[in-house]
Amino acid sequence: MRRTVALLGATGSIGTQTLDVLRREPDAFELVAIAGGQRLAELAAIVNDFGVTRVGVVSEDDRRTLSDMVGAHVDIVVGSKGLSDLSTCADVIVNAVVGFAGLPVTLGALKSGRRLALANKESLIAAAPLVAQVRNTPGAQILPIDSEHCAIHQCLAGSSSEAGHPDVRRLLLTASGGPFRGWSKARLAEVTKSDALKHPTWSMGPKITIDSSTLMNKGLEVLEASALFGIEAERVDIVVHPQSIVHSMVEYVDGAVIAQLSQPDMRLPIAYCIGSPERLAHGWGRLDFTQSFSLDFEAPDREVFGALDLAYEAARRGGAAPAWLSAANEVAVDAFLNDQISWSGIVPLVEEVMDQYEDDPLDSLESLFANDANARRLAHGMVTH
Ligand code: NAD
Ligand code: MG
Repeated sequence: MRRTVALLGATGSIGTQTLDVLRREPDAFELVAIAGGQRLAELAAIVNDFGVTRVGVVSEDDRRTLSDMVGAHVDIVVGSKGLSDLSTCADVIVNAVVGFAGLPVTLGALKSGRRLALANKESLIAAAPLVAQVRNTPGAQILPIDSEHCAIHQCLAGSSSEAGHPDVRRLLLTASGGPFRGWSKARLAEVTKSDALKHPTWSMGPKITIDSSTLMNKGLEVLEASALFGIEAERVDIVVHPQSIVHSMVEYVDGAVIAQLSQPDMRLPIAYCIGSPERLAHGWGRLDFTQSFSLDFEAPDREVFGALDLAYEAARRGGAAPAWLSAANEVAVDAFLNDQISWSGIVPLVEEVMDQYEDDPLDSLESLFANDANARRLAHGMVTH
């Protein structure tokens, strides 16, 4: 097996861990294209390290600066059109971009019949009806890097191939609970940025770290699971599991529960998605069963963490509601990271935007962009109000 890989979002948390996997397997994989939103010096270093010949950047200015660093023999493309072009140029397309900006990668990879190794949940959540239209392109395949979904993908291996998985009672999505598990609303009102950026079990990019602290990440993951596996959101339950060792579970109709376990290490799901159907013998995240350890489970506090109900409601409404939820959340998290709103203002802001959502079936890309823009405009208005 020798596969070509395009890694879009190469300088982030998932991006750098994907580079670790590729470095470990130089005979199996060849990195042919990368893209990044900033950090041009890091992009240049990857170009030199891996001999990459195609790079995506966000602006003409970046293109010129990077070209001076790496030389004219490297083909540098710009913006979402550039991302779209790069998402058709390898056997495996790793979408490690953060946020809605990852949409051209998800659609481009599937339309061109590639394997999409998907970390960028936001694009799938926002565009689920449109992704469904291109997912059956011959050769197209989505393998989820998100650890819970990668676990479920593995736990479903023995399940019925019938649509909707009739032999599955429910998916059990595990959640660490984030840094504020067990906190009261009063205590949460005092949360600072540095509190919210400290995740107890995973080291990740800033946006998903904040999403994990509000549990919006878990809400988004319910929508992600429903879209990925064709299972209604009501059959996706959330279980808080503070150790982050059980990455998720599938409960079958006979009551049997299948789980996937490892230490928290994203290189394991990344390697699974790039290498499948082969399992790479790397051992990242191996568990030591000679030392005693415990696995705890509890229900999430849906009263304190209102993001969960918002996500289930968006799933129930369908159409463009998940796109609104994700867009409003991106604006709110950005505003929090820029000190414009407090931590406890994030979810209420999203809720206020969702209150203005009117049902839209989301039947075209134009409609998706219009919905995304509308939700963002409303959210920005609330930030600056
Ligand atoms: P990050 O902020 O660390 O990295 C984001 C990457 O995207 C960077 O390389 C950045 O330069 C790039 N980027 C941003 N905007 C871009 C644009 N317009 N064009 C091209 N590149 C752009 O984020 P992350 O934590 O690596 O997360 C990436 C995605 O993976 C997110 O959707 C996140 O929800 C998902 N995810 C991450 C983890 C994790 O452990 N970090 C786990 C599960 C899922
Ligand atoms: Mg996850």
